[in-house]
Amino acid sequence: MAKKIAVDPLMDKLVSLCKRRGFVFQSSEIYGGLGSCWDYGPLGVELKNNIKRSWWEAMTHRRDDIEGLDAAILMHPQVWITSGHVEGFTDPLVDCKKCKHRFRADQIDGKTCPDCGGELTEPRMFNLMFKTFMGPVEEESAVVYMRPETAQGIYVNFLNVLQPSRQKVPFGIAQIGKAFRNEITPGNFIFRTREFEQMEMQFFVHPSEDQKWFDYWKEQRWNWYLEIGIRPEKLRWHEHEKAELAHYAKAAYDIEYEFSFGWKEIEGIHNRTDFDLSRHTKATGKDLSYFDQERNEKYIPYIIETSAGADRSTLVTLVDAYAEEEVKGENRVVLRLSPKIAPIKAAVFPLVKKDGMPEVADKIYHELKRHFKVFYDDGGAVGRRYRRMDEAGTPYCITVDGQTLQDETVTVRDRDTMEQTRNKIGELVGIIGAKVK
Ligand code: ATP
Repeated sequence: MAKKIAVDPLMDKLVSLCKRRGFVFQSSEIYGGLGSCWDYGPLGVELKNNIKRSWWEAMTHRRDDIEGLDAAILMHPQVWITSGHVEGFTDPLVDCKKCKHRFRADQIDGKTCPDCGGELTEPRMFNLMFKTFMGPVEEESAVVYMRPETAQGIYVNFLNVLQPSRQKVPFGIAQIGKAFRNEITPGNFIFRTREFEQMEMQFFVHPSEDQKWFDYWKEQRWNWYLEIGIRPEKLRWHEHEKAELAHYAKAAYDIEYEFSFGWKEIEGIHNRTDFDLSRHTKATGKDLSYFDQERNEKYIPYIIETSAGADRSTLVTLVDAYAEEEVKGENRVVLRLSPKIAPIKAAVFPLVKKDGMPEVADKIYHELKRHFKVFYDDGGAVGRRYRRMDEAGTPYCITVDGQTLQDETVTVRDRDTMEQTRNKIGELVGIIGAKVK
């Protein structure tokens, strides 16, 4: 029986735009695709990289108190026993006896199937970690896990980072990397996938200062979404109730975004207390406590975690930027991406492919390319070229026309207002650079 798919016109349009313009493709598409796996195309990889770069700059380069890390995906299997994931990283799975659809029991109400009303099986706990084998022999002792979160790579490296960086508590460690979860019900395009990328930061604090830093990081993380251009009215906080809290957390708030399929988490901010460092200390016998010279006190720091998804952030920027409008009786689709994260910053067009215009446009293109990602297009009517760039989210289009050859000016068209101004060629780097940096 074919799986019933909820109709979501906005997401359908976005998925098709992403394919058409080269943002995101289904993985292994020519083989029929692989469930919930997606590949980022030429524009998608630029957008996602720009988002990751913005996060990395906000979390590390612009601060003195956070260090970067890039830990391996595969870790000692004992790490996941210590962290509680082998025992507790599970979701309750139920199957419909009639239509055979599968659900997460905690995501559906009631005892009957939401798709066909059939009877459901008793919930079975299902561990979300992917397993594989290390070395040539596939036996129990060779099992390793694909990390389900990047955070543990930070905890086990606490001392390794602390010592050479000469940081003092309070300080943090930031990491961007892949994580894997064998989700029962992936879906909604790149919202929930089985392979995804996280942008996580663990901030180590004195236990008495946990609330202060928790509040601080809530504010910082909220503001970052505004920085990458997300409309504030589409964001809200969700506080986890006691019963909802993960096994390690004292307090947790999610930043949620209002998608067409409802308000959903895009980032979690957690007070993980001394849970992780204490457990790793106990399991390994390696003392992960910290001697605070100013306080003359030895303690295991509390951890305030900010955990965001790079793919989910990418989806949020696309959804939030997508707009359709009528212009002179025609439908225009435009991605109003912030110029800071737009994949292409400017496109350069010769109005026509003759009269010396391509030569001048080519020269401008090569000059701008030294500063930011630009695109050259001489194919088809200029109006169509503008439309293509609107769909790609390119904030500026520069057109070389007859007047250019006389006075060295070009038109600069703004994606959002569609207004055109005339500017000197020599000023372009400055004008566009100021808006995209
Ligand atoms: P849920 O309850 O929805 O499964 P979670 O609370 O387990 O999510 P966290 O463990 O807090 O999620 O993960 C932190 C962030 O990592 C999420 O806010 C999200 O941005 C991202 N993330 C988590 N799981 C996925 C996934 N399967 N696909 C894409 N991104 C994910």
